[in-house]
Parts: sequence; structure tokens; C-alpha cells
Amino acid sequence: MKLAAGTRLVIATHNRGKLREIAELLAPARTRVHGADELGLPEPAETGATFAENAVIKAESAAKASGLIALADDSGLAVAALGGAPGIYSARWAGPKKDFPAAMARIERELKAKGTTDFSAKFVCALAFAVPGKKTETFVGEVHGRLVFPPRGKNGFGYDPIFVAEGMDRTFGEIAPAEKEAISHRARAFAAFAAAVLP
Ligand code: IMP
Repeated sequence: MKLAAGTRLVIATHNRGKLREIAELLAPARTRVHGADELGLPEPAETGATFAENAVIKAESAAKASGLIALADDSGLAVAALGGAPGIYSARWAGPKKDFPAAMARIERELKAKGTTDFSAKFVCALAFAVPGKKTETFVGEVHGRLVFPPRGKNGFGYDPIFVAEGMDRTFGEIAPAEKEAISHRARAFAAFAAAVLP
């Protein structure tokens, strides 16, 4: 379905950075965007086994609680030699203090312990679009690359300083935000969403 101008929509996130990013993407559609915090919506437990399942849980919970159309995302880093870890646990590996240097060191330690030379990895972003009374749609974007240690660069966030996208030699922590936005998993998921849903 296409979003009509003036439609009220809830972004199912309590993260202000994500809310701003998604609101900017939706700006051309001239929808009326609300955050989960603003509407006092609860944060559901992320009990899914995949990024898409967790995005659906968040979007459907927000749609049900608010009666509005809801959009949610779930994302993370999947390392091939670690069986896809940290994957849906990407945020949780950094702990409540969001200690990403520790989470990146854990990845390096676990790869060393495996004795592997396969440092391939991908970032994944799943978006879920829930319309009350309709089947929830999902859109997934990925960017493939490899990990490097030690971490490099101060741009971006999370695991960016150890991720080098295919065809690049600088990490997501070293490239400009616009360079990352042109190829990122999130940009690709949003492009698929926009093509299907924005007028
Ligand atoms: P979510 O908020 O539950 O979707 O958690 C996403 C987590 O995945 C973040 O806390 C980061 O650890 C990681 N992540 C997702 N996207 C990126 C990215 O673009 N760069 C670096 N880390 C990311």
C-alpha cells in the first residue's frame, strides 16, 4: 500500500537518532510522524530469531498499542565464521553501557580462537511496516564486507570501525557519513521500503 500525505505514522523506536533518520526519509511523503516515546508505547521483548522477526514484533506491537500505521527496524552485524554472531544480539553484545570497543574485541577474540582466516561479515537491516488489519510487510537490506583489527576511524557508530565494505579499503569508521549512507544496509532497506510504500 502507498502512504497518503497527512497519514499519521508511528516510528516504533525509543532511539532518537533512528527516529530522526527515519523521519527524514519519510519527509517527501508528508506523513505525520510520531515516536514511540511521544505516544508512551511499551518496548516489546525482542524474542524473534531473525532481524525481520524482531522488526515485525516491534512494528506490530506499536501498531496495536497506538492504532496507527507503524514502521520499525532491527539491524546488526553478522560474522560468517562465527555462525552469524553477534547478529540479532549486536546491541546486547555491547552490554547496557554500549561498550562497542569491548564487543569488537570479543569478535576479534572469538575469530582468533577459531583460528580462521575467514573475516567476511555483513551488516543487515530489516524494516517492518505494520498497517492495522493488514499483513505486515518487511524489507531487508545488506552490505557485505570483511572485518579488520584493530578498529579504525571515529565516524559512524557501533561496529563501524572494524567493517570494510566490498570494494573499499577504509572502514565505515573512516569514510564520510554520506559515503556510508550511499551503500549501507539501512539505506538499501529504506530504498526497498520507499519504492513499495512511498507515493
Ligand atoms: P537495534 O537497535 O536493536 O537494531 O541494534 C542494532 C545494533 O546493531 C546497534 O547497536 C549496532 O551495534 C549494530 N549496528 C546496526 N547498524 C550498524 C551500523 O550501521 N554500523 C555499526 N553498527 C551497527
